[in-house]
Amino acid sequence: MRLEMNKPENRTDNQNEQTGNAKKSFCKRYKSDIILISIVLLIGTSALVFQQLSMKTGRMVKVYLDGKEVKSFSLDEDTEYKIVAASDREGQSDDADIFEGYNILVIERGKAYISEADCHEQICVKHNAISKTGETIVCLPHSLVIEVR
Ligand SMILES: [Zn+2]
Repeated sequence: MRLEMNKPENRTDNQNEQTGNAKKSFCKRYKSDIILISIVLLIGTSALVFQQLSMKTGRMVKVYLDGKEVKSFSLDEDTEYKIVAASDREGQSDDADIFEGYNILVIERGKAYISEADCHEQICVKHNAISKTGETIVCLPHSLVIEVR
């Protein structure tokens, strides 16, 4: 948008060149280009910084079953944990034979992922490893959510 706005200015500068004040208008045009490039760089850099800030590397991995937090792990420690969806549900042990499922959560080099699960879709297994705050892996059939905090 700014580039388009700058075009007519350059055109008038070119006209000035033709009227004899070439050197001065060249400097003027060069200066406006520098300002434009600086503005573009500034916007680009601040957008990048903002993105970096809002996507902080997480410290914890929280495991939710049916929206309830059942476990949490540190991302700093490599570990492997089998989440048993049925038995990990509070006060629902009677329903264990109605519903049962597992997901194997792996924490490796600061990232978390599901290495194995017995759900049909396998979306949670195919999901990329997560490490940034707010990132999640969801296993809908098991009502399981893994979230980085
Ligand atoms: Zn799944």
